[in-house]
Amino acid sequence: MFSDAQLAPYAAQSATSRGRRHNEAASSSRSEYQRDRDRIIHCTAFRRLEYKTQVFVNHEGDLFRTRLTHSLEVAQIARSTARNLRLNEDLVEAISLAHDLGHTPFGHAGQDALNACMKEFGGFEHNLQSLRVVDTLEERYGAFDGLNLTFETREGILKHCSLNNASKLGDVGQRFLEKKQANLEAQLTNLADEIAYNNHDIDDGLRSGLLVESQLIELDFYGRFRAEVATTYPGIAGRRAISETIRRMINALIVDLITTSEQRIRDCAPQSVDDVRHADPLIAFSEAMQKQATVLKQFLHHNLYRHYMVNRMASKARRVVTDLFNAMMDEPILLPPDYQMKLTDKNQQQDDLQQARKIADYIAGMTDRYAMLEHRRLFSVDEV
Ligand code: MG
Repeated sequence: MFSDAQLAPYAAQSATSRGRRHNEAASSSRSEYQRDRDRIIHCTAFRRLEYKTQVFVNHEGDLFRTRLTHSLEVAQIARSTARNLRLNEDLVEAISLAHDLGHTPFGHAGQDALNACMKEFGGFEHNLQSLRVVDTLEERYGAFDGLNLTFETREGILKHCSLNNASKLGDVGQRFLEKKQANLEAQLTNLADEIAYNNHDIDDGLRSGLLVESQLIELDFYGRFRAEVATTYPGIAGRRAISETIRRMINALIVDLITTSEQRIRDCAPQSVDDVRHADPLIAFSEAMQKQATVLKQFLHHNLYRHYMVNRMASKARRVVTDLFNAMMDEPILLPPDYQMKLTDKNQQQDDLQQARKIADYIAGMTDRYAMLEHRRLFSVDEV
């Protein structure tokens, strides 16, 4: 049997969860958050993460991170940190595995293109889409649409959103309107995400050759650990040296996150999740580490995310997504039957709004390679 007995009083407890939108009997063998995690792992959108871009498009190489391996790395970092802080490991694992379910194909280029296409129809935001996947789009259960996850997992998935959107989201939007914090598990997963992508993007950037190590050595954070590695293992070079450096960076970030958060928790002395909600964010890096992380992020922005070869792929990705959206909006009969609206002709604006949202759901659900195939099917006369 599971027990939350060893958790801190300010950790999310399965027994006091705010529950699910549709009532279900408790499981005899798993906590509520373990159940959430299991539902996420078994859902369709989770399997699609394997074929969705993080920075590099899936077919560019077998060793680059995908959304799936990224999500697993986030879960690993979040879980080991949670255990140190006596937070709920099952909940951070569930949030980590679900946090990117709403991502479009082709990473941020795909999301930006879809958002632009949806401008007149309420926009598109991957965070909101992740929630939409678990709340409504998955069709697996007889009694309800979606996965019927607990409030706490759903709240953690919704990292941020505009006040306008928050007002339409019911319970999970409330904290944005009231300017309160999410529970510590959600705060932690957010930063675990950041640790994961900053470090694996360096690794992938070097592996791809778009970044070279001499650029990174100029950054204090990388350079310091790289020097330490050279002292410990004289003559070490290549991928082995990079891995030894990156593992030290990840470790330093996690240790800093644990120490700083412990201190903030001690100072604030919350006795419950409710105390956490009313406090300032308690899971945080030290100021010095935050500065280093910002420098790293800026470096990646300038040198990797805006590298001309990444731009080239991003430009193609935007074209694919935009072409698909426009073609389907012009001719909804091109869509699979499930995605075609029954048009009423009575309220054109309402019909367009609903049709656009269905097309956005369809495109967002595509893997990189499915989007490319669909594009060929629609635009190449040679493709059947
Ligand atoms: Mg992420």
